Amino acid sequence: MIIALEGIDGSGKTSQAMLLRDWLSHRMDTFFTEWNSSEWVHEIIKEAKKKNALTPSTFSLIHATDFADRYEKFILPMLKAGFVVVSDRYIYTAYARDSVRGNDLSWVKGVYSFAVKPNLTFYIRVPVEVALSRIKESRRFIKPSEAGDGMFQNVTPEEGFLKYQSMVIDVYEKLAKEEDFVVLDGTKSPREVQTKIREKVGELLWKED
Ligand code: ADP
Repeated sequence: MIIALEGIDGSGKTSQAMLLRDWLSHRMDTFFTEWNSSEWVHEIIKEAKKKNALTPSTFSLIHATDFADRYEKFILPMLKAGFVVVSDRYIYTAYARDSVRGNDLSWVKGVYSFAVKPNLTFYIRVPVEVALSRIKESRRFIKPSEAGDGMFQNVTPEEGFLKYQSMVIDVYEKLAKEEDFVVLDGTKSPREVQTKIREKVGELLWKED
């Protein structure tokens, strides 16, 4: 089984994914994975971004390479071994990020068609201003990747964040219907969000009980 968590930066995905992983790992074999974390491709991505070398399609394809590396080396073997995979971001992150950069969404879907769809996808919905204030409170700076990685000229990091993440939200909202996401109100407390997640995961994993 794959359980994916999606949402914009600052929506609370990582916090929720960790809580879910800890809860599940007491009950079954659980494997946690996160976006852009392959052993070697992410270093190349960092270099390419520093040089401002990526076009919309190479941005997409290099992230797909990172994902494919992780997918083939870890996600698929873990699934085959019977683990539950908790994925902090999954293919829908690429659908959203790559299409706001100008790639055709159906092309992006084709690129990622080698990957199985998650059994359950949580979309943590928060207003973009809430996400921004959380990020500023927690670390007081905005990463370039959170503000569109150079997509916009002459904007402050905050403006870039609001513009970029609003575009990403528009795609997620469209996907939520098409891909049957479980939509969670991310403005609720972490405990309330986690309770909903555990209810749904429990229904999926232990439905015959
Ligand atoms: P993401 O992985 O989506 O970027 P994080 O889990 O890293 O989000 O959370 C971003 C910040 O918001 C962290 O400082 C975290 O403690 C805080 N946070 C997460 N969930 C909530 C919540 N439900 N309410 C208030 N703050 C939250």
